[in-house]
Amino acid sequence: MLTLVKNVQLFTPEPRGLCHLLIAAHRIAAVIDATEAFHLGSLINTVDLEGRRVIPGLVDPLVHYIGGGGEGGFGNRTAELSLEEASASGVTTLVGALGTDAITRTPANLIGKARELAAGGLTTYAYTGSYQLPPVTLTGTVASDILYIPEFIGVGEVAISDHRGSQPSTHELTRLAADARTAGLLAGKSGIVFIHTGDADTHLEPLRSVAKQSAIPLKQFYPTHINRTPELFEDGLRFAREGGLIDFTTSSTPELLAGGEVPASEAVARALSAGIDPARISLSSDANASLPQFDEHHRFVGLKPGRLRSLFEVLGECINEHQINVESALRCAATSAANTLKLPHKGRLGTGSDADFIVLAEGSWAIDQVWALGKSIYAAP
Ligand code: ZN
Repeated sequence: MLTLVKNVQLFTPEPRGLCHLLIAAHRIAAVIDATEAFHLGSLINTVDLEGRRVIPGLVDPLVHYIGGGGEGGFGNRTAELSLEEASASGVTTLVGALGTDAITRTPANLIGKARELAAGGLTTYAYTGSYQLPPVTLTGTVASDILYIPEFIGVGEVAISDHRGSQPSTHELTRLAADARTAGLLAGKSGIVFIHTGDADTHLEPLRSVAKQSAIPLKQFYPTHINRTPELFEDGLRFAREGGLIDFTTSSTPELLAGGEVPASEAVARALSAGIDPARISLSSDANASLPQFDEHHRFVGLKPGRLRSLFEVLGECINEHQINVESALRCAATSAANTLKLPHKGRLGTGSDADFIVLAEGSWAIDQVWALGKSIYAAP
């Protein structure tokens, strides 16, 4: 990733005479006077981590960074994610989405916030569209949003099997997936359709119907909340065996767990021991979404916000409590989402990858430092 271009007559535009250019990734890292002796070592900024563990920065395919819903009235609107909280979370790639409320929260707001977080050093993407159909967009259509707006890499989260969604028909879902798929192909993006799966007993059937009745493959859909109920979890395992992708939500509440939610780390452990390829499994925080509680009559009873940090915490539970090997756990918390979202420079640490990484604290599952795009953005106090 370092290239030394030697002996150039340089105009910067000032004439600098004979120089060497040291190029790191896509930038000029140093201009070296060719008449002076140099050794590369003097140009390297050295940081010694003294043997500490380093893992890829986490990739979170669902973050409501402008806040999510707000069921139960305006007094319940969830807050925006702060740059400070995001930088300390270990998540270095965040994909934003509108939530239940795509009326007072807008795609323009989403892009503004994406750029604020990016200005702070993080990598941000977003889904165009909304929970409800027809989708809310910035430029008029889902396809033009994906083609024209760099941050938009797909559409979502579109609600299925949920009393808060717009109960999309197979035809509507097929059209949406076709639009996103074509735009994704043209733009060189994933064009994925990110799906909010509710607790209705139709589970993932609406997605199977699309795949059965059209040329759209099952993998065009990326359904989340697959651990929300035991029944949905079982259907999710079937869906993964059929070739689909499944995403588990790491933010939880005692109320959700009491209502039958499978804890995300347990969901990963059970999916892996059921033989599901880690490449089909991912984790998302659902940060700053409202995690509302409804009673059996769909009456709202309360709400808590999702937390970005839960992704790192669940990764730790996978490794430390469920004895999942570090490699498989990291695939679920970073690499799978990066691959699904067509972000090959994310979710891994190899030659050519973005320098996004977490430095773990000595002897415990805690974050010591976070680096994003080659810069330290957080150090534990
Ligand atoms: Zn959702």
